[in-house]
Amino acid sequence: MSLRSSDQGVPRRVVVATKNPGKLEEIRATLAFPGWEFVSEAELGEWPDVEETGETFVANARIKALAVREHTGLASLADDSGLEVDALDGEPGVYSSRYAGPCASDAENNSRLLLALQDAPVLQRTARFRCAMVFIDDDGNETVSQGACEGSIGFEARGNGGFGYDPLFLPDAVPGRTMAELTTREKNMISHRGAALRALREMLERD
Ligand code: IMP
Repeated sequence: MSLRSSDQGVPRRVVVATKNPGKLEEIRATLAFPGWEFVSEAELGEWPDVEETGETFVANARIKALAVREHTGLASLADDSGLEVDALDGEPGVYSSRYAGPCASDAENNSRLLLALQDAPVLQRTARFRCAMVFIDDDGNETVSQGACEGSIGFEARGNGGFGYDPLFLPDAVPGRTMAELTTREKNMISHRGAALRALREMLERD
C-alpha cells in the first residue's frame, strides 16, 4: 500500500463506513495524507445497514469495510468498538450497543451495566474500550489495526460529553474524571479509537 494518491492530482477516495460526523472528523485529522480524501457512506447516498454478525471487533469492522467496498468499488475504512468489563467476562463486548436490547438507548445500556455490577467493589470494576479498524485499499489489500483504553466502571453516570458508556467509564489515564467529562480533544488523545487510528497511520506509512 503506497501513500501516493491513485492518479496524478486525483485524490485517493476512501469511503468511511460511518454515519457519525465526529468519527469522520477524527479520521480526517489523523490520516491527513496528501491527496487522500475521506467521505462518509452517508455522503454517498442511502444503502441498507449491514448486520454485524461477527464475534470479534475485527470481524465486525471487516464486515462493514467489505460491504462498503463492494457497494462503492472504492477503498474503504470501517471501525468497530465496544466495552469489555472483566467482572462480566468481557461483556458487553461486541454487543455493547445492544446490551439492554436490540434498540436500547445509551441510558438503558448504562443502567443495565450498573445493575450487573451492583455487587462489584471498586477493585473489581476494571474494564477497557476496544476498537478495531479495517482499511481495504483500491486493490483489495486489507490493513487491520487495534487500540484499547484501560479504565474502570464508576458507580454513577457523570458528564455530558461523548456518547455510549462514556459517563460511566473512568479512564486510567485521567484519574477522577469520566470519559464524558473530557473535551473531545482530550478523549481523542487517550481513546481506543485514537490509538487504533494512530496504529493504522503508522502501518500505512511503513508500507
Ligand atoms: P461503534 O462500533 O463505535 O458503533 O460502538 C458500538 C458501541 O460501543 C456504542 O454504541 C457504545 O455503546 C460503545 N462504544 C464504542 N465506543 C465508545 C466510546 O468511545 N465511548 C462510549 N461508548 C463507546
